Amino acid sequence: MIFRGRGIWRQYSGKLRRFLLAHTKRGRVYIERMLPYRRGECARCGTCCYLGHRCLFVRFENGLAACTIHNHRPQNCRMYPVGPRDIAERDLLDMGKPCGYSFVEIPPGEPRNPFARL
Ligand code: SF4
Ligand code: SF4
Repeated sequence: MIFRGRGIWRQYSGKLRRFLLAHTKRGRVYIERMLPYRRGECARCGTCCYLGHRCLFVRFENGLAACTIHNHRPQNCRMYPVGPRDIAERDLLDMGKPCGYSFVEIPPGEPRNPFARL
């Protein structure tokens, strides 16, 4: 079950953080450096498509989420999740169904998210 309103400001600041990561040079460097720490694959729960608000393009078929603009989806969606914070913010909406991705332990302070304050 998705609880849309929970931690709404954290949801929106996470969206802004990922937008800046996806659209700046130092953000993209950070994304590249985070990838080796990421495990798993998308389980198509669709919860990340509800962050802040329900995306117009998400549809469900047999309980699995599908993006109706998959080949043209924004960079923010393509790179999700970049780090454990993204998953923690997504868990505000739905803790019952976990994200298919997870992160192995990241050495303290490395790599540095240039937009960590958001
Ligand atoms: S929250 Fe994770 S598993 Fe669910 S749709 Fe998004 S990336 Fe996929
Ligand atoms: S564009 Fe697609 S992947 Fe991105 S939030 Fe919307 S439905 Fe989800």
